[in-house]
Amino acid sequence: MKILVLFVHLVSSNEGSNQTFLILFIHTLFSDESQFGWGYSQSDGPKTWGGKCISGKQQSPINIQQNNANIANYAKLNFINFDTIGSVKIMNNGLTIMASGMQEWNENQPYISGGGLKYNYQLVQFHIHWSQMNENGSEHTIDGKHFPAEIHLLHIKEGQSMNESLHQKDGIAVVSLLVNIRYNSSVLTAFDEVFKTLLLNSYKGGPTVVQQYRPSSILPTNYDSFFYYEGSLTTPGCEESVIWLILTEP
Ligand SMILES: [Zn+2]
Repeated sequence: MKILVLFVHLVSSNEGSNQTFLILFIHTLFSDESQFGWGYSQSDGPKTWGGKCISGKQQSPINIQQNNANIANYAKLNFINFDTIGSVKIMNNGLTIMASGMQEWNENQPYISGGGLKYNYQLVQFHIHWSQMNENGSEHTIDGKHFPAEIHLLHIKEGQSMNESLHQKDGIAVVSLLVNIRYNSSVLTAFDEVFKTLLLNSYKGGPTVVQQYRPSSILPTNYDSFFYYEGSLTTPGCEESVIWLILTEP
């Protein structure tokens, strides 16, 4: 068992008067061998995952070279029902911290459309990748550079099950937020609430419920431009069924 701690203590002063104080404190226990039979250590990391993770043709994550990216005009990416307030389940599964439960919001379930997508895609969960998992922070890189954290919002094609979506080329759409850790990061501030909830309830193995969660709190203010490519899940079995929409916080 190893204990990994990311402690970010960010202070900004607002014209010398009011102090904004934000603490992002993640203190989780990760076992060297995960409950899934795979993980991120030497012995069970990506090189050992096998299957499509090794033999696939469009595996994620990738390094995005901005010079090689084509500029395309897509319709605006729409985040619908992300302003709805509902309850989410927060779970530390040993590999990530994940929020889910939006499928139970029925007609209020958040979804995305536009942005080059041919269908609506419904939000089923979001989770974070940061340096505790892989020592690098983000999974995707831009011009070879990692970001301190990467948040994935996983959506599946409207009206389908996860299993159906896994087996279609365009079954899943993941919005990825590449996040800088700094005092004015609204995305991290929003995620900070999720972490705090988890910590206050301490890790008991089961999910913690947050009653009044508004998914839009996690979105960056500007999502007019993003990187779009077709790739895969970044966890076993690495199914090549994912449309990636990658946003960076300005
Ligand atoms: Zn992910």
